[in-house]
Amino acid sequence: MAHTLYLVVPCYNEQEVLPETSRRLKQKMEALLAQGRITPESRVLLVDDGSRDDTWAIIYGLSDNDPLFAGLKLSRNRGHQNALLAGLMTAKEKADCVISLDADLQDDVEAIDRFLDEHDKGADVVYGVRSKRDTDTAFKRLTAEGFYKFMKLMGVDIVFNHADYRLMSRRALEGLSQYKEVNLFLRGIVPLIGYKSSQVYYERHERFAGQSKYPLKKMLAFAFDGITSFSVKPIRFICILGLLIFAASVLALLALLCVKLFGFTVTGWTSLIATICLFGGLQMLCLGIIGEYIGKTYQEVKARPRFLIEQYINRQAADKEE
Ligand code: UDP
Ligand code: MG
Repeated sequence: MAHTLYLVVPCYNEQEVLPETSRRLKQKMEALLAQGRITPESRVLLVDDGSRDDTWAIIYGLSDNDPLFAGLKLSRNRGHQNALLAGLMTAKEKADCVISLDADLQDDVEAIDRFLDEHDKGADVVYGVRSKRDTDTAFKRLTAEGFYKFMKLMGVDIVFNHADYRLMSRRALEGLSQYKEVNLFLRGIVPLIGYKSSQVYYERHERFAGQSKYPLKKMLAFAFDGITSFSVKPIRFICILGLLIFAASVLALLALLCVKLFGFTVTGWTSLIATICLFGGLQMLCLGIIGEYIGKTYQEVKARPRFLIEQYINRQAADKEE
């Protein structure tokens, strides 16, 4: 059965890779069309996440000249997850199924056939899972794998070694659209949607050109968001920690009383200061973590829009807007 497939590609300052990426995606889409696996209404939807280079000019040029390409421009940089969501929610209106992939050709385009195979077998969500991590630096590999393990420990259900290369059916996207949270961590939300899912293994390549848009700082922020948006375990740890410290201080108090009773009164300034520091630090830490959740609640309560679309161009779909 032929599907109307949308490939959603978030792009942030990707002028170096876009010409090659668009060429390869076009090749792939044409092959799929020739095999009768996708309909002529299928598109490659390139989402410009507020780039500061020529990314939008390239996307606009492609969408203007070739009906296979559609372009979506966000009003400013909102980050990978929001850009992806904007693309998915736009594609949902037209497509039967959507595959999201990175602009830098790290996600193997040849795996698309296998995604469609799994979808044909009835899967609403197909996760692309990296078979190995040879192309990563040892540091990235270590931090990434540590991240998945830590997330599991924290009780967040995510698919090991799966990033955002995945197929979602229209039904799954409808489900996703009902998750209104602002702190977006798609890898955590998609498994919550449910429906039949499946996995496809692929080899992740090196970034084709340009630089990673995920420096360590952003990666850490992303991981922290992932944990605090899905898990209340950190709060529980605080309670347990508080309980343990309370028990320890009761014992310490008893010990101190004994010391006083036996006459060694002034036991020292050092231990006093040490205790103050320890508790001060602990309280700060706990307050910080609690504050993180309050901050999140605050953001969710405000329910700000997660993205605003500045321009959408999808030729032959009779809805070109400028
Ligand atoms: N990206 C985005 N907005 C951002 C940062 C990244 O849309 O603020 C896109 C980027 O263009 C790419 C994808 O997200 O298509 C993944 O980013 P990148 O390849 O830099 O991350 P890495 O593969 O190094 O983790
Ligand atoms: Mg990349």
